[in-house]
Amino acid sequence: MARYDIKNFTDSEVDYYSRQIMLKNMGFDAQRNLKGATVCIVGVGGLGSPVSIQLASMGVGTLRLVDNDIVEVSNLQRQHLYGIDQVGLPKVEAAAKRLKGLNPFIDIEPLPMMVTPFNAEEIIKGSDVVIGSLDMMAPRYSLNRACQKLDIPLIHGAALAYNGTVSTILPGETACLECFQGGVDDAEMPTCATVGVHPAILGIVGSLIVSETVRIIIGQEPNLADKLMFLDLEDYSFETINLRKAENCPVCGEMDKTPEPIAYDAVTEICGREGRRVFIFNPERRMDLPLEEVNAQLNSLGFKVVVKGDLGSTFEGSDGVKGSILKTGIAILEGFQEKDEAVGIHGRIFSALE
Ligand SMILES: [Zn+2]
Repeated sequence: MARYDIKNFTDSEVDYYSRQIMLKNMGFDAQRNLKGATVCIVGVGGLGSPVSIQLASMGVGTLRLVDNDIVEVSNLQRQHLYGIDQVGLPKVEAAAKRLKGLNPFIDIEPLPMMVTPFNAEEIIKGSDVVIGSLDMMAPRYSLNRACQKLDIPLIHGAALAYNGTVSTILPGETACLECFQGGVDDAEMPTCATVGVHPAILGIVGSLIVSETVRIIIGQEPNLADKLMFLDLEDYSFETINLRKAENCPVCGEMDKTPEPIAYDAVTEICGREGRRVFIFNPERRMDLPLEEVNAQLNSLGFKVVVKGDLGSTFEGSDGVKGSILKTGIAILEGFQEKDEAVGIHGRIFSALE
């Protein structure tokens, strides 16, 4: 695979990776391919945790981490990238620190962003493999279309409760996500906040994603191309069905159809706890907020900034209102009865910044 740079290794790196360099089908060439590769992991939650830990320690040279979430206490049961001392920090910031500590020989690019139809291509540009470790359909579709357009392999994984699925999508060769799972509305899907998720299924699905990713980078055939694997932790059944490119697929088919636009709202509601509503404000264009000024503005509005990160701040107010502002302009505001209240607070925080 000549498209990867050939770089040399220090003695420490050779020592670090020695137990995989000796593996059959690996060796120094494969290790060099890993070092020269950029993998974009979209979603560093339940699946992104085992995926990013393994790919970092295996020596993928550049890991681009994309997530707009903040570390919460309810994440820690399964998202083993994070510790309780990181609650309130942007996940990508906490993850970058942890992964750099695990392997100092690689580069991490943390992007505190949400994937939308407008930014998906910019986010994945330049990566050799994209991993979709998300929990919603709309951003999965945006990723799928961007990967088709830029001709980048996409490993799609999903897990909920005791079940998981994995598939490898090779643009121009295999079925795309919308050939076999198109048109699903997020409003009709269960979430981990409603049905829970067992950490072990995340570990298994995550490991399969890693194996597929590494196979592609080192030039082996992926095992799940044009296949969809179902895993069930309740009876340990692993079943694989064959997929086929749908001729009439609006995204990858040959019939010159225009795909339905992907739902995008500048303000979305996610499920909150105890009837307190949570809203995410996502600007259409990425911002670069001066966080010192954000913190000063929050203070002047009577909020207490409780976590000051490099890529975002988390604050608390009176009567259960709290939230986070990310450097990219995303705001997560929690604890409201009505959407209008959240919109009002958002306006007051941002009016002084723009
Ligand atoms: Zn398709």
